[in-house]
Amino acid sequence: MNRILRGIMKYREVQKVEMVKQFLKVKDHPTPKAVFFTCIDSRMIPTRFTQTNVGDMFIVRNAGNIIPHSHHFLDELTSNEPAALELGCVINDIRHIIVCGHSDCKAINLLYKLQDENSSSQENRRLSSLCSWMHTHGSPSLEKFQQLQIADYTKPLIFQAETPMRKFVAYIDPDNKFAVEDKLSQIHTLQQLQNIASYGFLKKRLEKHQLHIHALWFDIYTGEIYYFSRAAKTFVIIDEGNIEKLLEEVEDYYS
Ligand SMILES: [Zn+2]
Repeated sequence: MNRILRGIMKYREVQKVEMVKQFLKVKDHPTPKAVFFTCIDSRMIPTRFTQTNVGDMFIVRNAGNIIPHSHHFLDELTSNEPAALELGCVINDIRHIIVCGHSDCKAINLLYKLQDENSSSQENRRLSSLCSWMHTHGSPSLEKFQQLQIADYTKPLIFQAETPMRKFVAYIDPDNKFAVEDKLSQIHTLQQLQNIASYGFLKKRLEKHQLHIHALWFDIYTGEIYYFSRAAKTFVIIDEGNIEKLLEEVEDYYS
């Protein structure tokens, strides 16, 4: 807590005045650009690695960057994630949703272990909220991971995005650079795109191409950030060599 209180003192000295000015500007002209879903991991600092500022993004965080599929709710959407989607995309008319996963994700490492029946038993799930959360919402990611495993990590997977008709192909870690848990994390990040599209209140916007869903993946070991390119059918590193092509892709697909 000492660290936090001293940090607040530093903020008062260095940033407070400037931030209040920015709050006022945003209040009169709010133009948020994206709803950004990511993990609660303390190493993930999305505003820093995207260099975004006051008013730019709505950020939603939970263990394992999960957006539950709408079929988990019977007649009311009683969860933070759909409420955030409504606040962001319907009330504030934000046009882009980003899901950002990462390497060495503790929640995903747990999901990987839940392949073992003992670990994912109901008894364990009753004792552990995290276990239950990951089992309930991560099982489709595990199923896709197992498909990939059977194909010796070489065959592509098919995911659904904005609408049931808009499917895309994904080669997961084609250069075999990452651990199996990180491959699962990439699959899981892509799986959330389908979950987002399951919400009826977004359907019209998604069908009319007014709302777009993207996946990012942060490699904690190297600090590199990847964008899932539907054109390249894989996660592509965002760097000097690829940025023009990625900007073009974003323009073509999502404008
Ligand atoms: Zn994580």
